[in-house]
Amino acid sequence: MNSKPRTVEALHSSNSFHWVGNGFYVSSYFPNQELPAERVSPFLLMDYGPARDFSPLPEGKRGVGWHPHRGFETVTLAWEGAVAHRDNAGHAGVIGPGDVQWMTAASGIFHEEYHETEFTRRGGPLHMMQLWVNLPRKDKIAPPAYQPLLAAQIPTVPLPSGGTVRVIAGDFQATSGPARTFTPITMLDVHIRAGEPLSVPLPTSYNALVVVANGSVQSGSTLASTGELLLFANDGSAIELTASTDAHLIVLAGEPIDEPIVQYGPFVMNSTSEIRQAMLDVQRGKFGPLPYDLEG
Ligand code: MN
Repeated sequence: MNSKPRTVEALHSSNSFHWVGNGFYVSSYFPNQELPAERVSPFLLMDYGPARDFSPLPEGKRGVGWHPHRGFETVTLAWEGAVAHRDNAGHAGVIGPGDVQWMTAASGIFHEEYHETEFTRRGGPLHMMQLWVNLPRKDKIAPPAYQPLLAAQIPTVPLPSGGTVRVIAGDFQATSGPARTFTPITMLDVHIRAGEPLSVPLPTSYNALVVVANGSVQSGSTLASTGELLLFANDGSAIELTASTDAHLIVLAGEPIDEPIVQYGPFVMNSTSEIRQAMLDVQRGKFGPLPYDLEG
């Protein structure tokens, strides 16, 4: 099996953290001027929250309250701590270590995202990531959906030197991930041992990036360390790297959606008129029952 390794196009990092609500202290890796959404399509946004300790909170909650989304999916991964989600399409769930929540906002939902109550009371580290995944024009007004992908459902492929590859979406070495996606996506959660090589064959057309959550890896002549993101050129049949230390990586890849991207706050559509329509539809109650009607 001959694979032509892709070259590293760029190394990105993010040092600017911000709070999402009062619960998620994250760094936004994209979109921005250096890494526009078009270059990482079908991914739109990546907020990464490295492990951070939260003190026990005897009452109240931490997170972000009811807000709408339309036109895309939110994918939340947790490695430490626990995040509770609830939406007005009737979906609710908790994602804990190793779990992934794949939420299709599509035609429109309101949801809230908080630290799970028991975790809030107990305190401890939270380590998470949220991705926004775009939908093609034809699916932007599909019905909302919800896939709780629990750790036990996510298959693990062992690597020869003791590492592991958890397949969330797409395939790795003939193992398929459980996520149902609208467009082809590969999402892998990788733990790799120092000195171990990793080759992930991908169609050349896929945009592909690797986030180094911990440790360091080398690809070609580029060394990427904790907190850095490797963007690969679309010039080969596989991404190839070797771990310099034990490392935790997230591999994100997918077929680009070649359509205009217009984002305004929590809406991602193809045109400004569709954004205006989304704002009108929120006011007209077309995103389902308003959240305050769900309270009490
Ligand atoms: Mn949200």
